[in-house]
Amino acid sequence: MLDQHVLVLNCGSSSLKFAILDAQSGDELITGLAECLISEDARLKYSYQGQKQTESLIANASHQQAITRLVDIIKANKLERSLIAVGHRVVHGGEHFTQSVVITEHVKQVIADTISLAPLHNPANLVGIEAAEKAFDTLPQVAVFDTAFHQTMPKHAYLYALPYELYQQHGVRRYGFHGTSHHYVAKQAATVLQQPFETLALISAHLGNGCSVTAIKNGVSVDTSMGLTPLEGVVMGTRSGDIDPGLFNFLTQQLGYSAVKIDTLLNKQSGLLGLSKLSNDCRTIEDAHLAGNAQASLALEVFCYRLAKQIAAYVVPLGTLDGLIFTGGIGENSQLIRQKVIDSLNFFGFKLNEQANSQARFGQSGVITSNQTGPQALVIPTNEEWMIARDAAALALEVI
Ligand code: ADP
Repeated sequence: MLDQHVLVLNCGSSSLKFAILDAQSGDELITGLAECLISEDARLKYSYQGQKQTESLIANASHQQAITRLVDIIKANKLERSLIAVGHRVVHGGEHFTQSVVITEHVKQVIADTISLAPLHNPANLVGIEAAEKAFDTLPQVAVFDTAFHQTMPKHAYLYALPYELYQQHGVRRYGFHGTSHHYVAKQAATVLQQPFETLALISAHLGNGCSVTAIKNGVSVDTSMGLTPLEGVVMGTRSGDIDPGLFNFLTQQLGYSAVKIDTLLNKQSGLLGLSKLSNDCRTIEDAHLAGNAQASLALEVFCYRLAKQIAAYVVPLGTLDGLIFTGGIGENSQLIRQKVIDSLNFFGFKLNEQANSQARFGQSGVITSNQTGPQALVIPTNEEWMIARDAAALALEVI
């Protein structure tokens, strides 16, 4: 069978995650991360043939320089020979992209035009695209957008109650993120539940450093908790999630905060970190909670309460519920958070299977409830890279 290896690139604001994987099986040939880019500590870590390597990049290495080094590694190991496409995770596609696309000059222009909506990420995504175009000039380059899956949201779900001109003239609306992950785990859940994806009412909770919840009805996203930016919605590692917008006035007028300081406060100093005064890392907070740290317990209470409330709210767009999916580092591993959330949602008829819940970690997936009727709760490890590789391979095979 024809090899269907895809290089997947995910350029963050100061990082570059990469993988080469088989689009059919999901098997990974090489995976890695360039981190602390544009700083003294810029470095590249990768895992190839069971060997883990870490090397320093030159100080202040850019995304472009990290990709140049990655291309050297790929070519030195002759990995480019089986590549059929490069798949790029692009954070924001605005209203322009409802699905993945082969990258053309027009597509790049639209990604550039959307920079005002994702000023940290879309520029890095464009650097990754242009570097990959130069290095692999014969391969189709495919963009997979974090926002695309949510473009099916109805207008009443994506509009803010603001003067309509802000939407018409400046694109101020809810877009949602983590779309690739929500789409992937929802399809996997349909397989586990042995039901057609297009017939199900599902809620997926992607709980990593960023957290979002999506309502998926008959195979499409009908609402999601993140908005114009990834700040809206449930409590996250360092992001506040929903707050009263009146807070802006309070902070500026009463405490003299600048817009930049408020942005940093809400994005980097809030969430689990701000509440616990300890860490944004859920493992650290759980350990502290178990050791009797009251502040850590409070952070978990707020996190779980707000999450359960968001999940319950999504019965409105769904009208019914067949499955609740937990994914992301916290969703896939935290027995405690799943238990607390499911306990708060008992009115749905969930009966937690404690053994299944305690075993669902480190990549184990499956149903963690045992009720005979009503919705089931599931743990499904996300795999955004595989979803990106599958989309990239499918589009590449159309244009080859
Ligand atoms: P990202 O959004 O950066 O991809 P991840 O999906 O890897 O993040 O999730 C990171 C979060 O998952 C961290 O808060 C981490 O503490 C949490 N996590 C990982 N393993 C566990 C665990 N065993 N128990 C609780 N939380 C965990």
